[in-house]
Amino acid sequence: MIADILTPQELKKADPVFGQLSFNDHEQIVFCNDKDTGLKAIIGIHNTVLGPALGGTRMWNYATEWDALNDVLRLSRGMSFKSAITGLNLGGGKAVIIGDAKTQKTPELMKRFGEFVHSLSGRYITAEDVGMETADMDLVREVTPYVTGISESKGGAGNPSPITAYGVFMGMKAAAKHVFESDHLEGRTVLVQGIGHVGEVLVDHITKEGGKVIISDINEARLETVSKKYGAEIYRGDDLYSLPVDIYAPCALGATINNDTIDKLQAKVIAGAANNQLADENIHGARLQEKGILYAPDFLINAGGIINVYAELEKYGKEEIIRKTENIYDTTLEIIEKAHTNSITTHQAALKIALERIEARKNENK
Ligand code: NAD
Repeated sequence: MIADILTPQELKKADPVFGQLSFNDHEQIVFCNDKDTGLKAIIGIHNTVLGPALGGTRMWNYATEWDALNDVLRLSRGMSFKSAITGLNLGGGKAVIIGDAKTQKTPELMKRFGEFVHSLSGRYITAEDVGMETADMDLVREVTPYVTGISESKGGAGNPSPITAYGVFMGMKAAAKHVFESDHLEGRTVLVQGIGHVGEVLVDHITKEGGKVIISDINEARLETVSKKYGAEIYRGDDLYSLPVDIYAPCALGATINNDTIDKLQAKVIAGAANNQLADENIHGARLQEKGILYAPDFLINAGGIINVYAELEKYGKEEIIRKTENIYDTTLEIIEKAHTNSITTHQAALKIALERIEARKNENK
């Protein structure tokens, strides 16, 4: 028996789900497998106190299934706090599909995934994330109503990425206001890491305001296109984090603020779209604070996308989407103040507000 071989501590670590480092009282985890289409997916439902768990589906070529599970656990938890702090009546969920979105994503696979989503009867509502397009959500919509981010022509709110980028821009300006005493980005240098759906629109906003942008991406073609379009400088070296910039905007994948990068960072502000930017929120939030770097919490400032897809459920229009997204500016300033007053990190301050809202609803529902 495994218990005869491992110490209790090792045994705990070996627990495949509830013992996972990123397991945080998630309500439900669903493993989806379909031999015919090659679908291997995991749906994570973290918390449904405020409403159905809504969060995008990511398709990624994970090195191991453990990485995929860890990702969905972290991402779905983040969604609970994102919706809570944004004042939406939604819980937190997320899904990952294991595989290469460029070569393994087929209409059949997407529809099969949709059927699994449907089997949860609305406890989980999906949307777009890395590796997904609006057209993929349209395919999912063919088999289930529990999907958002479908095309505008099909009655949806369309691609959420431009609104996400606008919200990040709002959060970035609020953080800049606190650190540089002006929220105008003219003359500031911003490093945008990852110039995909969100990153490119963010580059657009910053350059329009007169900011200088340095871009980095693993996709060479995107670098060329975005550089030409916006006059952004390309960085291809291997010392990205040491660049002397004012603002660092992580817009690729999470956990880029970690033990290896934190000491190198020169930026005074971190504000980007990527989810779970802090590799370990308990350690790295405090380390940033000690270094005098202001971190705009990711789940607060990248909420534009969920505001956009929530519009499909609540049937509000573009004006309300913009208003709610612009509100990210004020909320970011409030969080910075709260962190300062309570001598906690900005991440902790944001988390506290989100948890309090969930707890209050839980008590109301009792
Ligand atoms: P995307 O897939 O369109 O773009 C990601 C970009 O990052 C791609 O161009 C990719 O080549 C690049 N990239 C990947 N690894 C990289 C690396 N190591 N270094 C540099 N570049 C790298 O994704 P997106 O929709 O723009 O989302 C970006 C991030 O924002 C993701 O973490 C996503 O979860 C998060 N986010 C997106 C939305 C949204 O509305 N799309 C909402 C909230 C959060």
